[in-house]
Amino acid sequence: MTDTVLVTGGSGYIAGFLIRQLLAEGWRVHTTVRNPAREAALRPLLGGDADRLRFFVADLTADAGWAEAMAGCSHVAHVASPFSTTAPRHEDELIVPARDGVLRALRFARAAGVTRFVQTSSVAAIAYGHPRGTMRRYTEADWTDLAGPGVYAYVKSKTIAERAARDWVAAEGGALEFVSVNPSAVLGPVWSADFSPSIETVRQLLGGLLPGCPDLGFGIVDVRDVADLHVRALTAPGLAGERFIAAGPFLKLIDVARILKAELPGEARKVPTRRLPDWLVRIAAVFNPMIRQITGELGNVRDTDASHALAVLGWQTRPVDQSIVDCARSLIDLGVVKV
Ligand code: NAP
Repeated sequence: MTDTVLVTGGSGYIAGFLIRQLLAEGWRVHTTVRNPAREAALRPLLGGDADRLRFFVADLTADAGWAEAMAGCSHVAHVASPFSTTAPRHEDELIVPARDGVLRALRFARAAGVTRFVQTSSVAAIAYGHPRGTMRRYTEADWTDLAGPGVYAYVKSKTIAERAARDWVAAEGGALEFVSVNPSAVLGPVWSADFSPSIETVRQLLGGLLPGCPDLGFGIVDVRDVADLHVRALTAPGLAGERFIAAGPFLKLIDVARILKAELPGEARKVPTRRLPDWLVRIAAVFNPMIRQITGELGNVRDTDASHALAVLGWQTRPVDQSIVDCARSLIDLGVVKV
């Protein structure tokens, strides 16, 4: 494989694993970062010499650098998007860069003659805003209802960005093939102390920062499997317009805690295994805006069905226990969590 692919947001968790896999499979990789100083620390982690891996400076909110980053690329994996554990002061802090960023990347991709554009969307664009208690598994046919309950800023940003991308491609995309990958909560090993917000749950459980487990849950998928699904979405023929959920089993926080206790009995001493009553979480939410955004999730089951990716792309996922344990071990090894 001698094609060149642009992976946006090379400083990110998913993008890092994707870049490593692409380099290992022989691609030339371009990647964008906001801060050029990141290249020195990232290059040894990602691998690849200066010829195979090139860094470009580009922000989702401005045109500068995008033409250079896209030049010579046949494929784009647009992974960058604002993602944070804290609630923004205003939802537009997430929505505007997410939406305008993917539209900007699409415009420059078309101008550069890119043939396949893969957007990292999310199950946030699929499984939110629906009435509670339906207990069904969401599929690629579902869309988050922005007017429904429990739709917070990040969920809006991912839904609006994927919608905007699909509308733009339908109207102006020409021959550009668009595919989205929609992961659930991504866990797995981390390689630096600058990790994705999705790792926070394991960090907080392991570090004994939670007095108990709120009745919250999420589908869990391994970062290595998400990277692999991106590669399949970049390369398999005939995928224009496709959408692929990247998710493993739905687990409650208390299930994650039990796996940590069982698999890492020595290291998981501080992990709580009792459930926090909902009323206590709601009181905490009064004082903490981050908890406030997720109180609507208490007791909710938002299961998603990844059988489309399994069937169409031959995608496979590793056991969820392995993702959780590898995540915990890497946090301990990096000294992020003291056990
Ligand atoms: P991450 O490690 O926080 O990566 C986010 C990336 O986006 C970083 O490289 C960040 O760059 C970049 N970014 C944010 N705002 C930007 C801007 N204005 N201009 C340019 N770059 C910007 O998170 P991640 O988990 O890898 O997430 C990557 C993608 O997967 C996101 O689209 C996210 O919505 C999606 N996703 C993640 C999960 C999950 O559980 N992790 C689940 C579903 C979907 P800086 O380093 O400069 O901040």
